[in-house]
Amino acid sequence: MIAAGGALAATAVGTPVWAATPERKLGYAIVGLGGYGLGVIIPQFKNCQHSKLVALVSGDPAKAKRVAAEYGVPESGIYDYKSYDKLKDNPDVDVIYICLPVFMHAEYTVRGAAAGKHILCEKPMALSSAECETMIAACKKAGKKLMIGYRCHFEPYNLEAIRRARAGEIGKLRYFRSEHGFTAGGPSSWRLKKAMSGGGSLMDIGIYALQAARYMTGEEPVAVYAKETTDRSDPRFREVEDMIEFQLEFPSGVIGSCMSMYSANQNHILLMGDKGRIELEPGTSYAGQRLWVGNGRSNEITPPPGPGATQWAGQLDHMSKCVIDNREPIVPGEEGLRDMRIIEAIYKSAREQKRIVL
Ligand code: NAD
Repeated sequence: MIAAGGALAATAVGTPVWAATPERKLGYAIVGLGGYGLGVIIPQFKNCQHSKLVALVSGDPAKAKRVAAEYGVPESGIYDYKSYDKLKDNPDVDVIYICLPVFMHAEYTVRGAAAGKHILCEKPMALSSAECETMIAACKKAGKKLMIGYRCHFEPYNLEAIRRARAGEIGKLRYFRSEHGFTAGGPSSWRLKKAMSGGGSLMDIGIYALQAARYMTGEEPVAVYAKETTDRSDPRFREVEDMIEFQLEFPSGVIGSCMSMYSANQNHILLMGDKGRIELEPGTSYAGQRLWVGNGRSNEITPPPGPGATQWAGQLDHMSKCVIDNREPIVPGEEGLRDMRIIEAIYKSAREQKRIVL
């Protein structure tokens, strides 16, 4: 149920309607209390205007109890993966936020929608485009919103770079470049098991370069060419790729050149136009973004504030506002599906060593 911080208005016939007040907050269930769900998302509710934490789903009862106590979630709001479907009977939960390993995204989206809840699902959306389509169909059937956790769409430096690129500040865009990577940990991580992750660095971190190529250019690629380089003797990379570089061809003639890797820390975005450059480094990290516009790095820009107090508050409150106002999120399931189709083409190109037309 939607909790209203403001007054309950009454119509002439006495039917209550929720007054749209700035304090109105939707209730969230966080599924998966791991590095992202617990470490990053849960502490963000304090920065939100329209979103609050009301439930937890975890396979670890002691952890769930501890987190619930710390964040004021009632014990009746604690679920595990078996009792997950009982969220249906919890009217305080409006939105389920899925922060699980990738192989669980589709199942928990479909079950969550069947429980009558809106879904915010982490990236990458799923293991395959077929799974993405199933998730979209399930949410449509249930009449629920589906949004993907593409937080950079709410991040001020990225928004400012997009605005300046669209305003023509660097002239006609010719070339986009992005390197994204981090040093992967021990081989036991689900990220390094193909059945759980769907793939290696591209699924996890290279997707930021792909996303940025699309939102910075405002275009959809028409063809891809990719090359993978993986040291298979490294125990981390028995099942998934380390480095994969991919070139994207855009309709306007812009070329996108991206590198994704699990063996070095990289977080860089560069746009080259015929009159200058826009550069972000880091570009998509949690904090510390820097932005330069012009030629080289002499003109550093501080952007205006983004839509939320933080990129995560902006993301959570966007989802809530879309539910409240019955609007489609700016990063709906279809956006996750578009990325997944391109990712599949990138893997195909690397495998077959040929250009793939999209
Ligand atoms: P994590 O391994 O730290 O946490 C995963 C959680 O899922 C853990 O609580 C784990 O106990 C639980 N889980 C339940 N069943 C599991 C199973 N069978 N195997 C493994 N774990 C199981 O992972 P994470 O870093 O929190 O990533 C979760 C999701 O969030 C992924 O989709 C990831 O891509 C995404 N993520 C997004 C960002 C971002 O900036 N948007 C950052 C990090 C992670």
